[in-house]
Amino acid sequence: MSQIKGMMMKKSRTTAIILAAGQGKRMNSTVQKQYLLINSKPVLYYSLKAFEESIIDDIVLVTGKTEIDYCQKEIVEKYGIHKVRIVTSGGKERYHSVACGLAAIDWDCDYVFIHDGARPFVDGSIIERAFLNVQKTSACVVGMPVKDTIKLADKNGFVESTPDRSLVWQIQTPQVFKKELITKAYEKMLSEEASLNAADISITDDAMVVEYFMNIPIKLVEGSYKNIKITTPEDLKTAEIFMDA
Ligand code: C5P
Repeated sequence: MSQIKGMMMKKSRTTAIILAAGQGKRMNSTVQKQYLLINSKPVLYYSLKAFEESIIDDIVLVTGKTEIDYCQKEIVEKYGIHKVRIVTSGGKERYHSVACGLAAIDWDCDYVFIHDGARPFVDGSIIERAFLNVQKTSACVVGMPVKDTIKLADKNGFVESTPDRSLVWQIQTPQVFKKELITKAYEKMLSEEASLNAADISITDDAMVVEYFMNIPIKLVEGSYKNIKITTPEDLKTAEIFMDA
């Protein structure tokens, strides 16, 4: 009976929003970090390929307005990333780009995986672990426990406090949510954007939006120490070493 019930249950549909609309100012390069080459292929290609080959059903690729054509022809078509249903333009801040990605989903979708296009080492097992967790909790983020002691600084550059290292995680992506939950959280956040800006609160990931605006616990899921974000020139060197290994 439970087997029949299981067979009759609708399979959950998943969409990944891959973010590639950042300007990458910290890279000190004329080329944005997501388009820099590792082993002759753009960083973004590796992120897309991981989702293409995973349990994910559909992909929204969010890029800068002027890079839509390049991404469509030189990445999506060239490398046969068939799950990309739309390449759409992002916004000024990362959270604007996420909102653009969410607005583009006009198909059946139960869970949304939000991923930085500049993290090329995400893999199928991380994606599956996150999927298993989000089905139980509605909200989860990938990360790893920190290796170093972390200090919180005051505005003058002095140590304010030292959190218990065993409780501190470094957060990565994908960050995964039930579609209605993350859509509602973003709607609320955008309606209060002016007051957040006035209070100098920077929204730097999606979990923050859920933390601030929804009363839902967010599960931490193990990612990988390799799942780095290519941000500064030394990250590119590390990525080349990881890729060669
Ligand atoms: O700037 P940050 O390092 O947080 O960027 C993380 C990811 O978000 C990158 O893949 C970047 O391309 C993307 N992003 C975006 N739109 C922005 C800023 C960042 O899609 N306005």
